[in-house]
Amino acid sequence: ALDQKNLHVLYQPLLDVKTGKITAVEALVRWDDKEIGVVSPDELIPIAEETGLINNIGSFMLERACEQAVAWKNAGHEMKVSINSSVREFRDKNMAKSILETLERTGCPANLLQIEITEKFALEAEAETGIIKQMRILENEGILFALDDFGTGYGSFRYMQLLPISTVKIDQTFTRALKSEKTQQLVNGMVQLGKSMNLTVVAEGVETEEQQELLKKFGCDVVQGYFISKPVTSNEITSLI
Ligand code: C2E
Ligand code: CA
Ligand code: CA
Repeated sequence: ALDQKNLHVLYQPLLDVKTGKITAVEALVRWDDKEIGVVSPDELIPIAEETGLINNIGSFMLERACEQAVAWKNAGHEMKVSINSSVREFRDKNMAKSILETLERTGCPANLLQIEITEKFALEAEAETGIIKQMRILENEGILFALDDFGTGYGSFRYMQLLPISTVKIDQTFTRALKSEKTQQLVNGMVQLGKSMNLTVVAEGVETEEQQELLKKFGCDVVQGYFISKPVTSNEITSLI
């Protein structure tokens, strides 16, 4: 039943805490079915991965993200657009090539595109050298990679060494637990670790001013979450910037 007519994209802004400016957005898929209603990505993505439809969703999201980045650029806003990628998409040997083709077709500069990968992705990438090779091709062209849900897996440190990532995104579970002093120390350490490796450190799931202030104090570069904005349409982003 997955029909691209029912797919759309929402964008969640990422706020640079030093400048107070929105410098990037994350593209999040929404599937709105006439009969079933809105299906959340947490339900949709695993099914799409199993059935292979993730490739269709991935290329749809990529195309939209690139078009949108170009539209903002033409309006005078240099805004990075992040997309989420499943490892299954990178098993396709032509993945890097087709991403580069989409950039060219849409006229999107490579440095405006960021690809978020999870540790599940990283685990498989390590086993399949072809995946890392494709990541390196894209990195050489100027595309950035971010390690998503940082801290939730068991191999974060390993992947920080192995993969061409420029950003880590501290998972929302840590942000949510920031009331605990232990978590504060842990998150502070995670930020310092990221900084020591010259990575941009993003914290996800920021819902309160207190959380944002603490993260800023720890030296976190970028925050994302409902406190800044929920995922919204591209038009709403345009009016925010
Ligand atoms: P994610 O990449 O970790 O994306 C962040 C999720 O957290 C989003 O849920 C977002 O709406 C939610 N979120 C943002 N700020 C807050 C906050 O302050 N509090 C709370 N409680 N939640 C917040 P969403 O859009 O439902 O997406 C869920 C997951 O689905 C994403 O997690 C990502 O792993 C996956 N996903 C979404 N779109 C795509 C896609 O196009 N392709 C792939 N492969 N995966 C996608
Ligand atoms: Ca993400
Ligand atoms: Ca995440």
